[in-house]
Amino acid sequence: MTIQSLMFADPAVVQEYRSLIDQIRSHDDAYYQEDSPVVPDAEYDRLRQRLGEIERQYPDLVTKDSPSQTVGVKPAKGFKEVRHSVPMLSLGNAFEDQDVDAFVMRLRNFLKLDGSAEIEIVAEPKIDGLSCSLRYEKGKLVGAATRGDGSVGEDITANVMTIADVSGSLSSDVSDIPEVLEVRGEIYIQRDEFVVFNTEQERLGGKIFANPRNAAAGSVRQLNPAVSASRPLRFFGYALGEVSAPIAQTQDGIRQKLKSWGFAQAEPQAVCRSVEEILDYYHRIEMMRPDLPYDIDGVVYKVNRLDYQERLGFVARAPRWAIAHKFPAEQAVTILKDISIQVGRTGALTPVAELEPITVGGVVVSRATLHNEDEIARKDVRVGDHVVIQRAGDVIPQIVSVVLEKRLDGSVSFVMPQTCPVCGAHAVREEGEVVRRCTGGLICPAQAVERLKHFVSRLAFDIEGLGAKIIEEFYAEGLIKTPADIFTLAVRDRSSLTPLRKREGWGDVSAKNLFASIELRRTISLPRFIYALGIRQVGEATAKRLAETYLSISHFSDAIKEAADMNSEAYRTLLNIQDVGASVAADLIAFFQEDHNLEVLSALLDDVQVEDFVPVQVENTPVLGKTVVFTGTLVTMSRAEAKARAEGLGAKVAGSVSAKTHYVVVGEDAGSKLTKAKELGLTVLSEAEWNNLISGY
Ligand code: NAD
Repeated sequence: MTIQSLMFADPAVVQEYRSLIDQIRSHDDAYYQEDSPVVPDAEYDRLRQRLGEIERQYPDLVTKDSPSQTVGVKPAKGFKEVRHSVPMLSLGNAFEDQDVDAFVMRLRNFLKLDGSAEIEIVAEPKIDGLSCSLRYEKGKLVGAATRGDGSVGEDITANVMTIADVSGSLSSDVSDIPEVLEVRGEIYIQRDEFVVFNTEQERLGGKIFANPRNAAAGSVRQLNPAVSASRPLRFFGYALGEVSAPIAQTQDGIRQKLKSWGFAQAEPQAVCRSVEEILDYYHRIEMMRPDLPYDIDGVVYKVNRLDYQERLGFVARAPRWAIAHKFPAEQAVTILKDISIQVGRTGALTPVAELEPITVGGVVVSRATLHNEDEIARKDVRVGDHVVIQRAGDVIPQIVSVVLEKRLDGSVSFVMPQTCPVCGAHAVREEGEVVRRCTGGLICPAQAVERLKHFVSRLAFDIEGLGAKIIEEFYAEGLIKTPADIFTLAVRDRSSLTPLRKREGWGDVSAKNLFASIELRRTISLPRFIYALGIRQVGEATAKRLAETYLSISHFSDAIKEAADMNSEAYRTLLNIQDVGASVAADLIAFFQEDHNLEVLSALLDDVQVEDFVPVQVENTPVLGKTVVFTGTLVTMSRAEAKARAEGLGAKVAGSVSAKTHYVVVGEDAGSKLTKAKELGLTVLSEAEWNNLISGY
């Protein structure tokens, strides 16, 4: 740091700047040397972004060894060092759409292209693994190295030789292979193989990795190649290092050549001609991301023409002709402000993390589930901690781990309350259970309200206008205490001194509408009714199976009461139902043994008519009894419609491909399921072929 820069920059900024450098270096060591990062990538990226901001404001602060000017870290001790003949660099980052616009604009300006001149950009997935350079001489693999600090990497030749995707000698009949050929690419582990591998590590008491990227890096950077050989490592080739003769004129040409020489490629790739095409590609890959068999953390854009790449050259640690467009992070660090307790309809006490709101995967998260007390103890989560939260797809946000380095002095372990925070009754944890439950039963307002909310929910009675908030209000005012009260609401309202229509925010129309939608549900199907009862472990699917077996509400309740005798035929029948095991059976029986539940049921049946279940007569269709898997994006119908139609024709629709699958119906952009189907030699049908097969039925 120069004296001058110290004079101009605000001392607080200089201090922050130094602290950022220390933090980034320490994270780099944990990530690159130990393969065990202590913070999520998004948090690390944020530190780097802040570093960049300060450096842009005070350029004099920047020294040659600033993390903004360097790549990775020096090779670890124990490995032989390899000097790269062509440096292995990092990539600049784009996070927003406008960053991509700016990137293309920079390229145009740099190359002095006028408005009408086209610039082709190759877009490809950014695999989350570790980069590796393979050196072939006369078609034989002679060396493999990690990126290291970009100039000097670690010699991992023996380890890489064990990777099945990496061929030791390129096919001899390929005459166009240059004498010296360095192929650069990514070593990675597939997601499913990672899960199997980590589970096995856990069983054997070995090192557990946070994600496939760290597992791949930890597996390949082993001093003993036998360890690498036992790990499910794979390789994608996407670029060149030193080559003794040019092999193509474009990036896409390099890809085609590498492919023809047997190097696996991350698909799909695209050659884009405008920012719109680039962003379309980005969003398409973003949608495909969960279905790809490997982790990606964004996409990479590269100028297609190699002569342009040459002209554009490099800046500090990254090429000017390429950029990584990252996906919004699915993990982030935030502060755990409090742990509150939620009481569910079955009395389960669930600890909930109250968080300092933070954007994760593009959505603001302020609460996350902590599951149960064992989970909190296992992760040692404490109020005041910095915690790593994760949100993947539609999954409820979860706390992954605690950033122990940031723990406050004097923080205390969490103790689960022994009483229900709502009704004060004892909260008991039965032997063998992880969940603590309120023993207040229906005197517990929380349980009663939650049951009512479940009763009117979409898959149950689905009463329009009677949402969770109104249920809470009506319960608090004593208007609705049990499900049957819903159906007497209109009658009581007529003689009420404070009818609904006179309430604040209500009027004649809204009151009438609510009564009308309640009337509409006075008749209900058996599966919905069973589901609405809110019996523990009886979800929508189980309710349907119970309805299919017992056909009427009276049969159902009689049979479950009889099943209390475990030697009875009724008990055996119950256990024979798909999805019903001893534990579900016990919950069903317990429900019908409680007087209060029987009272609620009988009061309800006075007001509601439950339709008998009529089994669908499925005619002999070509897909009767067959198992079908839909994958990819369907064009002529939604997934839900495809499933309903197939089931209506007697087929079973499964979520995953196995040897037992009869048909795999593929829409657009089908991913791993299609690959698996092909591996298993299953019958794969296009959407049109499927529609053809079932047409007329
Ligand atoms: P980078 O991962 O952002 O980008 C460069 C790398 O992308 C290349 O070296 C290459 O290995 C890879 N890549 C994947 N697919 C590619 C493709 N198709 N074409 C070209 N390259 C491709 O940069 P980086 O310098 O390796 O490291 C930064 C990354 O590592 C960031 O995501 C950062 O968050 C993470 N990191 C995290 C921590 C932490 O503590 N959590 C510490 C250090 C680094």
